[in-house]
Amino acid sequence: MTPSIVAYIGVGSNLHDPCTQVKQARIALKSAEKIIETRFSSLYSSPPMGPKNQPDYINAVMAIVTSLSPMELLRCLQVIENNQGRVREQHWGSRTLDLDLLLYDQRQINLPDLIVPHKGIKDRAFVLYPLQEIAPELMIPSLGSIDDLITSCPLSGLKKHP
Ligand code: ATP
Ligand code: CA
Ligand code: CA
Repeated sequence: MTPSIVAYIGVGSNLHDPCTQVKQARIALKSAEKIIETRFSSLYSSPPMGPKNQPDYINAVMAIVTSLSPMELLRCLQVIENNQGRVREQHWGSRTLDLDLLLYDQRQINLPDLIVPHKGIKDRAFVLYPLQEIAPELMIPSLGSIDDLITSCPLSGLKKHP
C-alpha cells in the first residue's frame, strides 16, 4: 500500500454559485476514501484566465494526506468534478468545478494524463497565494520555495473573498 503522502489540491469554480461549489468540493474530498484534510485556505476571487467573457473565479487550495497513488487521486478528483456537473467545453472556459493536483509529496510525475507539480503553479497567483497561506515553508520540486515564486508573481486582481 502507498504510505501516507502530503498532497495539495487546487479548487476553482466560476459557475452556479462558485462559493457553494468550492465548499461542496471540500466536503466531497473530506469524505472520500483514503483522503484526510489537513488545511484549507481562505477563498480567493480572481478574474478569469484565458477567455474573458466569463464570470470571475473563486479559488482555494486544500492540503491533504492520502494513501491513494497519484493516478488514483487524479481519478478521484475527476469523479468529484463530474458529480458537480463539470462539462468540458472551451479550453479554460467556465466550469462548475476544477480540481487540479498541484503537488504530490516532493514527486515529479510526467505521465500522459498527469504532470506534477501542476504545470500552471509558478505563473498563477490564485494557486501560489492560497498555497503560501496554508504552507508558508513549502518547497516545490524543481521550482524552489513558495516565497521566491510569489516574489515574481503579481496578484493580477486576486483578492481574499470576504
Ligand atoms: P490547466 O491544467 O491549465 O489548469 P484545466 O484545469 O482547465 O487547465 P482540464 O480540462 O481540467 O484543464 O484538464 C485537462 C487534463 O489535464 C486532464 O484530462 C488531466 O488528465 C490533465 N492533467 C495533467 N496534469 C494534471 C494535474 N496535475 N492535475 C489535474 N489534471 C492534470
Ligand atoms: Ca486548472
Ligand atoms: Ca483541471
